[in-house]
Amino acid sequence: MIKAITGTKDTLPSDIRKWHHLEELVRNVMASFNYREIRTPILEETALFSRGIGESTDIVSKEMYTFIDRSETSVTLKPEMTASVVRAMLEHSLDKQQPLNKLYYISPMFRQERPQAGRFRQFHQFGAEALGGTNPSLDAEMIIVAYDILKNLGLNNITVKINSLGVPSSREKYKHILKIYLNDKKTQLSEESRKRLDTNILRIFDSKEANDINIMEDAPLLIEHLDNESLEQFDMVKQILLAVKIPFEVDARLVRGLDYYTHTTFEILSSSVGSQSALCGGGRYDLLAEQIGGRDIPGVGFAAGIERILLACENENSFCLPDDFIDLYIIRVDKELVAKTNELALLFRRKNLNVEIDYLNRSVKAQMREANKLGAKRVIFLGGEEYSAGKVVLKDMKEGNQQIFDLNNIDEIINNL
Ligand code: AMP
Repeated sequence: MIKAITGTKDTLPSDIRKWHHLEELVRNVMASFNYREIRTPILEETALFSRGIGESTDIVSKEMYTFIDRSETSVTLKPEMTASVVRAMLEHSLDKQQPLNKLYYISPMFRQERPQAGRFRQFHQFGAEALGGTNPSLDAEMIIVAYDILKNLGLNNITVKINSLGVPSSREKYKHILKIYLNDKKTQLSEESRKRLDTNILRIFDSKEANDINIMEDAPLLIEHLDNESLEQFDMVKQILLAVKIPFEVDARLVRGLDYYTHTTFEILSSSVGSQSALCGGGRYDLLAEQIGGRDIPGVGFAAGIERILLACENENSFCLPDDFIDLYIIRVDKELVAKTNELALLFRRKNLNVEIDYLNRSVKAQMREANKLGAKRVIFLGGEEYSAGKVVLKDMKEGNQQIFDLNNIDEIINNL
């Protein structure tokens, strides 16, 4: 038996309504903030991510699904969306059509990580990117949009953490200070962190090794070494969040793994999903567009993991959807009325009613059972004496009462559904 690939998951019809509910909410909230949807290909040239995300990040160095296609091009299944959105904006000169582009997406992503609860190899994200503005209102807006979506899903156990990574010049100076601090502790660091000393030193803050955590406890913090411009920008973000009453914590150790971040960085965590607790992460990336060979266009965005969010919703019992139902089941009483049943069903279906009929030559009793199972609000009995007289019987499944209608008068039946 061929099974789904490790780390990938089928979404079955019994679960799909949760996804639709979440996706609809995302679309509504995004629309109210005037974000427009963008869709990009699943496949991109590998260089987009290696340049855009950075060679030294976990995503690029260990997790990408990369292969050489039949025309000898190195292609990659997208592991995140920001680089693709920025590429699309540059390629189609969206920035020349309007100075600020507010875009959102809902899309599958691919990373070859070790599968565990809340961590998959194909997973889904929704997110937003605002390209073309440096105003801290946009940084705050990302947090507000993400927070509002999670709150609208009924999630309570969430924490917003924010930090600032400043501008590259102050960050470079700080990295030097951090390196000096870590230099004589090198031998005590884990192998992974030792490697990061030269490649991605900030990421040592993300280490889960007890020894590394101890060492980083006393490390100098970036926020203490930020320039005035970065501090002012960060202060404005905090003021906006206070004004809109979104609770947040400043976490000076929040660094995030991607090279292109500048200024604001944030995460929204849930205490309802176990160790993979980040529901959402984002920040400002003023350097990305240039890094992938384009024009200098600042940006800010976030990405949220749909599987994890739905898991949090389930664990918090945060939304319950009404039971499935259909509007109408047409029970074919006489076997020979196959064509008539199809014809009648189509008339209702074209009026946007959710209608089912029997395809398995079931008995009237079995059709009735099926109608009940599908949660049919009403059934029509097609056949018998009534049919000979040009009529059908409509039964209300909840009330139990029956009415007889003229078969030629569909509109009257619809008015009674
Ligand atoms: P990132 O792009 O790594 O900042 O991820 C943003 C969000 O996507 C995270 O907060 C998670 O909710 C989700 N996410 C990232 N990687 C995975 C994964 N392998 N499986 C499931 N969700 C993920």
